[in-house]
Amino acid sequence: MRSFDGNAILARLSALRAADAPTHGGHVLSYVYDSGVAELDELAAAAVRLVQPVNGLDPTTFTSVAVMEREVLGFARELLHGGDEVVGSVTSGGTESCLLAVKTAREAWRAAGGTGRPRILAPVTVHAAFHKAAEYFGLDLDLVPVDARTGRLEARRLIERLGPDVALAVVSAPSYPYGSLDPVEEVAAACDEAGVDLHVDGCIGGWILPFWREADGSALPAWDFRVAGVTSVSADLHKFGYAPKGASVLLQRGRDRQRLQYFATTGWPGYPVVNPTLLGSKSAGALAASWAIIQALGARGFAELADACLHATRALADIVGDIEGLRVVGSPTGPLLAVATDDELPADRRVDPHQWADRARLRGWHLQLQPGLTQSDGTRLPATTHLTITPVTKDRIDELEAVLRASADDVRGTPPVDAEAALAALPPLSGAPLDSDTAAGILRAVGIAGDAPGLPNDQAPLLALIEALPRPVTERLLIELLARIVEPS
Ligand SMILES: *Cc1c(COP(=O)(O)O)cnc(C)c1O
Repeated sequence: MRSFDGNAILARLSALRAADAPTHGGHVLSYVYDSGVAELDELAAAAVRLVQPVNGLDPTTFTSVAVMEREVLGFARELLHGGDEVVGSVTSGGTESCLLAVKTAREAWRAAGGTGRPRILAPVTVHAAFHKAAEYFGLDLDLVPVDARTGRLEARRLIERLGPDVALAVVSAPSYPYGSLDPVEEVAAACDEAGVDLHVDGCIGGWILPFWREADGSALPAWDFRVAGVTSVSADLHKFGYAPKGASVLLQRGRDRQRLQYFATTGWPGYPVVNPTLLGSKSAGALAASWAIIQALGARGFAELADACLHATRALADIVGDIEGLRVVGSPTGPLLAVATDDELPADRRVDPHQWADRARLRGWHLQLQPGLTQSDGTRLPATTHLTITPVTKDRIDELEAVLRASADDVRGTPPVDAEAALAALPPLSGAPLDSDTAAGILRAVGIAGDAPGLPNDQAPLLALIEALPRPVTERLLIELLARIVEPS
């Protein structure tokens, strides 16, 4: 074994990490979920270290994996009010949980005699993971428009599109873009009657809504396994379970149904394969961390952290509502909110949410820009900026308020970025699929493909371009942008 200088290697990694957006302290209001409890992070890291060499592929050989998974699932099932007929898996994240919910529903639909191409029926606010599932597993995605002002789904609009080709309906608790809690009970009753499976995407809400209350202090309407007709629920441990990335729970109602999630084969000369999830060999790290965090927090600990989020969210919603030119979209349920321009004001008093976010980033606070979108009924969902609130936010409210107000003052009256100039700089688009070099050329022409990885500070022009270009073009450009970031030079 040749000798190596571990300290030097780690010093380089530390230097690289120092350039990252800050993962702790509440400055990044998406992607990261900081409990603010340092001991919890230490515990999670120690748990990851303990199982580092384990292969989660085979819980009969590495029996610790089976015990941890069983205990995590047991806790989740109780939290989400599942009975003995509710079983599940720990997956690598929300996307995998959603993919597997769709895969299971497709198999169940086929087993019940469905033929041809099935449909997923969901509000337009459903997470992009379901776009991915539809593409991967060969289903059509039927997106139901929501109220363009509030982001709310009217149950009737989804229910009237139920039909024998629907393999799965999906609603969110709550939705990622706006934090809207979909009308689970009404949709579930209709799905139950129509014999259609219903997934509740609780990826972001699953570990916090059980402890949430409405603004007036009342309990939320039931959205989990208490509701007959709900066949599966996803809940991400690496969000409000405060675990490191790589852990989510997918619970399904009915053993026989859940077994359709599995893949097994003895049709090769190697070991018999049985996979509940998409991966083969897999880390047990995030599972072990999740398990340890659950032991440490228990329901009481989760409730306390949820309370911190609740108070911070209410405070922030009030602050944003009080900033002239901005408005909170709808009435979010859970620790997240979307902010749009208050278009009831004259143009010179409005605040564009994207330029507002760019100004906040200059002050060291990262909000997440969401493009506007035209729905299938022609109505337009506004451009918004998204904030996910975590327990640490509670102690930073005053600081954040000052930043949000000052950033709004900076850009009040500035119209949204017009993408026309950038579009005019582009070579004519023939409609043919872009090749890699052409795509890279376009990225350079609009000034977003430098040599250093990372985006320019001003993201509003990028979002304007995303809204203005045809979707296939934008999607291809984004692929090029990400792909080039990791290409060896
Ligand atoms: C985060 C999220 C997902 C996808 O989860 P990943 O963990 O990012 O793969 C799905 N649905 C909702 C509502 C989410 O918030």
